[in-house]
Amino acid sequence: MPYEKRISHKPIYGRSLNTNPIRNTMSTAQRQPTDVLSPALPEESAIPSNINRRSFIMRNAVIGAAAVMTGRAWTPEARAQQAAAEASKKPSLPPLDSTSMSSDLDVVKRSKGPVMTILEEFYKVGPGPSSSHTIGPMRITYDFYQRCTKLPADQLAQATGLKVHLYGSLSATGKGHGTERAALAGLLGKEPATVDPLFLDAMKEKPDESYPVKLGDKTFNLSLADIIYDSAKGDFPHPNTMTCQLMGSDKPIYELEYYSPGGGFYEWKGYTPPKKGQPKYPYATMKELRKHAEDNSLSIAQVIMANEVAVSGKSEEQINAFLDKIANAMLATVKAGLAVKEGVLPGPIKLQSKAATVWERAQDDKYESDRAIALVSACALAASEENARGHLVITAPTGGSAGVMPALVYGLMESQRKVPMEKIRQGLLAGAAIGYLCKHNATLSGAEGGCQSEIGVASAMSAALVAQVMDSSPLVVENAAESALEHHLGMTCDPVAGYVQVPCIERCAFGAVKAWTAYMIATNEIASRHRVDLDTTVETLAETGRDMSTKYKETSEAGLAANLVLC
Ligand code: SF4
Repeated sequence: MPYEKRISHKPIYGRSLNTNPIRNTMSTAQRQPTDVLSPALPEESAIPSNINRRSFIMRNAVIGAAAVMTGRAWTPEARAQQAAAEASKKPSLPPLDSTSMSSDLDVVKRSKGPVMTILEEFYKVGPGPSSSHTIGPMRITYDFYQRCTKLPADQLAQATGLKVHLYGSLSATGKGHGTERAALAGLLGKEPATVDPLFLDAMKEKPDESYPVKLGDKTFNLSLADIIYDSAKGDFPHPNTMTCQLMGSDKPIYELEYYSPGGGFYEWKGYTPPKKGQPKYPYATMKELRKHAEDNSLSIAQVIMANEVAVSGKSEEQINAFLDKIANAMLATVKAGLAVKEGVLPGPIKLQSKAATVWERAQDDKYESDRAIALVSACALAASEENARGHLVITAPTGGSAGVMPALVYGLMESQRKVPMEKIRQGLLAGAAIGYLCKHNATLSGAEGGCQSEIGVASAMSAALVAQVMDSSPLVVENAAESALEHHLGMTCDPVAGYVQVPCIERCAFGAVKAWTAYMIATNEIASRHRVDLDTTVETLAETGRDMSTKYKETSEAGLAANLVLC
């Protein structure tokens, strides 16, 4: 018997059992003013647009429950009004990691106003294994070295060396991320996008090697000993804080404090962001972004492209050239990883690489039924293993998650589908939109939000990429991204021995497969019936990250990092 028919809707003690809002066909307007005990959902149109929908519904329900207990009668309209008033009082959320992030940081301030991130800030090519612990620190020390070269001659005349102090998570897990090598390379004038990974490998093989650095008329030698793993715990403006010092004998004569908030971004004490143009379609939420798309009959990719032109001042041609570079770099990282037949990845875990083996088995007709999942997994493992080797990867959004999106790009372009570059560009734009929103309203850093912020966001971006490539509507793009992110919520960051290998490498494969699953579900359902919107999930990501113990935020103090015995 259908479930509906088994339920008696007869009133009991004068109270309607018709409490399920899905079965409740009576509109709020049709209800009697005294029907105060039935906790029906308010109609969507009754929810004020400037109020958080979830808060409004919760307040509405709580007022209804209080009415039951106190006997106070509310008309639906009065209850909605009261709920709106209470929901609007909800204090704005503190910055994600309010215990360790200063409100002075631009990364915190930028969470207000429209999204202003541009593609070149977001998709970055650089050496693995971590955007916050490798690419960020290398960009920071490169920046510091450039500043030093511009100091007055009399100040440079006193210089005897350079030193870098790493704090917080950079100190706790920097060794496993190769932070000291990246930081030294930046001081030596190397940039992430162009550094030869073999140069970084050589540093590892010869840790006592000295390298000459020229500043003004002086040349002095630097080594890994000049990169100091300082306090892991303390009251830092950001979990990834570092200071760079130009030394005069044993005292700093010039120093600057920097922060590496993830995705290869960096800022420094007193940072002011560069001037940018205003977005053509300003948005700070997915709801606003989708409205622009729907009102103007544009795809999500087209809205992002128009904003990119307006904010960056670049032409569409220049932006497309950049997207091609990113897509080609993604293909290259997968190919490089698949080309390594077998081997042990660097570090104490002695983890065997497996991308090539998974790839080979996927070609075997005996395992044909596994093929689709195996190919996507192999590509994700390949790019992620390249990251673990410290080779060049693309932040999408981070180094730890750098296997996810390349797997989908490779799968779409190099499989029988042969998706053309033009479509991949659109997918990268849609994926960036999701990443921008997660960065704007939550975080992309495992040190701030756990792995949900890295692999979860990468999976959501990739689901949006696939949906956009397949010409899905803006709502389906949103639903696919939402679904992928939703099923990573709560995922902790606990890299074993501080190396971005376990659980990170396999996690990239799972993130890629989940992205495809999310796309499939989103294109199989009636889009308007999808019950969870992306903004709610991003807000949940931020709240979950805020509540997560710091032990699970890239400190390697708990989880697998604490329980896996290495021998
Ligand atoms: S566990 Fe996740 S967030 Fe942490 S380092 Fe690995 S990939 Fe990054």
